[in-house]
Amino acid sequence: MLYRKAGKTDMSVSVIGLGAEHLDGKPYETVDETIGAAIEQGINFIDVFMPGPEVRKNIGKALQGKRDKVFIQGHIGSVDLNQQYDISRDLPTCKTYFENLLTYLQTDYIDFGMLFFIDSEEDLKNIFDNGIVDYAQSLKKSGTIRAIGASAHNPVTAAKLVETGVIDLLMFSINPAFDMVPSTSSVFDLLEKPADIDFSLQMDPVRAHLYRLCEQKGVAISVMKTLGAGKLLSREHSPFKQAMSVGQCVHYALTRPAVVSTLLGCKSESEILDAVTYFSMTDAEKDYSDIIKTRQGDFKGSCVYCNHCLPCPSNINIADVNKYLDIAKLNEQAIPPSITRHYQSLEHHASECIACGSCESRCPFSVPVIKNMEKAASVFGE
Ligand code: SF4
Ligand code: SF4
Repeated sequence: MLYRKAGKTDMSVSVIGLGAEHLDGKPYETVDETIGAAIEQGINFIDVFMPGPEVRKNIGKALQGKRDKVFIQGHIGSVDLNQQYDISRDLPTCKTYFENLLTYLQTDYIDFGMLFFIDSEEDLKNIFDNGIVDYAQSLKKSGTIRAIGASAHNPVTAAKLVETGVIDLLMFSINPAFDMVPSTSSVFDLLEKPADIDFSLQMDPVRAHLYRLCEQKGVAISVMKTLGAGKLLSREHSPFKQAMSVGQCVHYALTRPAVVSTLLGCKSESEILDAVTYFSMTDAEKDYSDIIKTRQGDFKGSCVYCNHCLPCPSNINIADVNKYLDIAKLNEQAIPPSITRHYQSLEHHASECIACGSCESRCPFSVPVIKNMEKAASVFGE
């Protein structure tokens, strides 16, 4: 297992996490088997957004004696008032459900207290006006939560929330298909009515900006909908008209700026074991560029961080250099020290580029790598 530090927090989470949604409605034995297998495989990050008492109790029971082995995302505003998943912006209701999360999980703290489903201007306004952000901050002050996070699907709203400085972690829906949905459309439309989405535009610049903004601000991203609700695994349902593997989807998410973990919705030991086969895949097997290059014109000139262009005779990690350069370009006058540190910790730097051009001939997206290396060497000084 690999671990990444979650932004400015002191928590390092596993790059593959467990989204517990599919454990809802399952018997305790299944919940116990799945969580036990996850921990056995080194998974230390679990999202529990479900509001129902049974699944919360089952997870709490399965975690007995293992609570210190996992970081939990628990949500403020996830309720089941009508016996189904629902969202509340009513402070007393949010408190009741969050407190019963602690009770049912048999714990006195939650690692990431998540502001739930912040997808519109109204959501953003309500969490501030209704005292929900104040509540999260008071939980953090008292140590009941260790960090504040939020879940979101809309990149415009999410970026506004990140800019407020309130959150340390953003749970966001990321996969190559969603990244091509214009920010004016809902990703839920893609799942329900794919024909209504206009894919002919480009990789959505608003989403690309959000990921860079998070990295710039030290806000970690945990990923949901990594597999596009399974549609990307099917040639028939994928907008790319080719099936991706789970490993390719995981790799795509993990190569976006700021992403620390992909939360996969496993519901058995065998699904956990399937998920971690990612670590035994070769670089060629993880490479997703062949799938998304079917829309080559849309990506022209923009690095998608796939490293399809390797090997480099100077052993430069071209995707990582391009990624840190893209983040630095957000504000070259004030490059965050964390980005400079990430760049410095690379084994080989852009200044080592000998302009051989072999990467450019291999890049499916016509990225001007040599020019980018020159720019990175000048921006980062090495
Ligand atoms: S330069 Fe091209 S091939 Fe290399 S990482 Fe970027 S998009 Fe992929
Ligand atoms: S042009 Fe530079 S970055 Fe690209 S393969 Fe050659 S040495 Fe590496």
